Amino acid sequence: MRMIKQGHLYQLTFLPSVFPVNCYFVEEEDGLTLIDAALPNSADGIATAARKVEKAIRRIVLTHAHSDHIGALDKLKQMFPDVPVYISRRDARLLTGDRTLDASEPGTPIRGGVPKPHTIKTTPDVLLDDGSRVGSLLAIWTPGHTPGSMSFLDTRTQFLIAGDAFQTRGGFAVTGQLRPLFPFPAMATWNKELGMESARKIREYQPELLAVGHGNMIAQPVELIDRALEL
Ligand SMILES: [Zn+2]
Repeated sequence: MRMIKQGHLYQLTFLPSVFPVNCYFVEEEDGLTLIDAALPNSADGIATAARKVEKAIRRIVLTHAHSDHIGALDKLKQMFPDVPVYISRRDARLLTGDRTLDASEPGTPIRGGVPKPHTIKTTPDVLLDDGSRVGSLLAIWTPGHTPGSMSFLDTRTQFLIAGDAFQTRGGFAVTGQLRPLFPFPAMATWNKELGMESARKIREYQPELLAVGHGNMIAQPVELIDRALEL
């Protein structure tokens, strides 16, 4: 596991050379907010990293319910039973294995590693809506990769943690734009058009740094976002 710090943000990367999967710590006064839960065998690595930082994990926040973002969730909840879990109201349904769509949503199938029904034991404690606050973070509803994908803006720094709304591994891309060197996020995307709309929404916040599920963090990402949106 690799750990890189940028201001209040720590990026934890599992399998950095093969299939890089990121999760993040956001430092708050009372401890750490963990964003995403990586792979099933990542729990010990995440706990060790928190010890290294000498802060307790206070919250677990999920960007979306794909298996490489919720892998260690149940194990972490066992290790830290009092830590509340946050996910969008919409992807809370995916977390239970329910792949059905609402009548108001485009009918493209939900893709990617969604848990099978009743395999995830953790019940989220807080359901997030667009504009919800989690410590210093503003929750921004950014559907496309999944119907309930959320991004989180650190309002102290304008750092944005976007889950799989973008990727930076294998080439910069908005969710759904296929990059042959790392095609997996695009292959797991529910609706590319909504993903593009969400990328435009994120752009409006003028993030200072972009932190995603797969690939390195990027400072001053707005120009790259603009270029990707023109494709
Ligand atoms: Zn995903």
